Amino acid sequence: MEIIKTINEMRQYVKNCKKEGLSIGLVPTMGYLHNGHGALIKKSVNDNDITVVSIFVNPTQFSINEDLDKYPRDMDRDSKLVKSIGGDVIFNPEPEEMYQNNITKVSVSGLSNKLCGITRPTHFDGVCQVVSKLFNIVTPDNAYFGLKDLQQYIIIKTMVDNLNFPVTLNPIKIVRDENGLALSSRNTYLTDDERKSALSLNLSLKYAKQLIEEGERDVSKIIAKMYDLIISYPYTKVDYIKIVDNDTLEDLLTIVNENYHILLAVYVGNTRLIDNYSSIV
Ligand code: AMP
Repeated sequence: MEIIKTINEMRQYVKNCKKEGLSIGLVPTMGYLHNGHGALIKKSVNDNDITVVSIFVNPTQFSINEDLDKYPRDMDRDSKLVKSIGGDVIFNPEPEEMYQNNITKVSVSGLSNKLCGITRPTHFDGVCQVVSKLFNIVTPDNAYFGLKDLQQYIIIKTMVDNLNFPVTLNPIKIVRDENGLALSSRNTYLTDDERKSALSLNLSLKYAKQLIEEGERDVSKIIAKMYDLIISYPYTKVDYIKIVDNDTLEDLLTIVNENYHILLAVYVGNTRLIDNYSSIV
């Protein structure tokens, strides 16, 4: 397993692979890898001759009051995990390598300013910028994204379709711990008590599914019950709970068919966590 730090070396590596007719899978990450990332890497290793895992804590997707500086990092542990799963390369550039004189923005308007985009208005433009750059540097046949970040996946899929990136996107379902908490690098910020409260996110999603199965169709009633469940746990503050149309991410008033997602963001202590139920996989 190789660690590559520069764009030129990464391009050269890819060029050699393509000369030999090898297929390439890309797994973009910010590192501090867990089994959620592991599931993406495993699928890529299974599908492709070569798997490139990018580890880059992308400054342009953080706003100034967010956790860029304290975002957890552990390259030694990450390298071991990638190697153990069979990944071939970690692409780990410095911010200066990625953002020399970069004034180009990529924006999927309409989808980026709702849900998480309300609390994080510049976030998805930063994500689209870095993912575009990674696609152009690595030119993967396949790229792997987790549905843990459902809005991100839908935005990137729209970007890929709209801008004709020659890459196939592969969505991977959420990996959870044994208690149902969606794995996230940010879970490391939680105290033991906060971790217990963080279970309320998944519990509220299950509750919503149960209500829908029992025949409830009124979205406002479902959301009110989810809200009450979450705030019955200490340290929680709801950022948003939404039930939206699959493609447009527009709010639904009524559940009419299976084409909906339920998404939520909740502060547990100072840590903002997201989770969702998606009809994608
Ligand atoms: P991150 O390092 O948080 O930017 O995540 C990198 C990729 O891993 C993204 O596509 C995430 O959606 C995905 N990912 C993170 N956590 C999980 C999880 N618990 N289950 C599935 N995919 C995940």
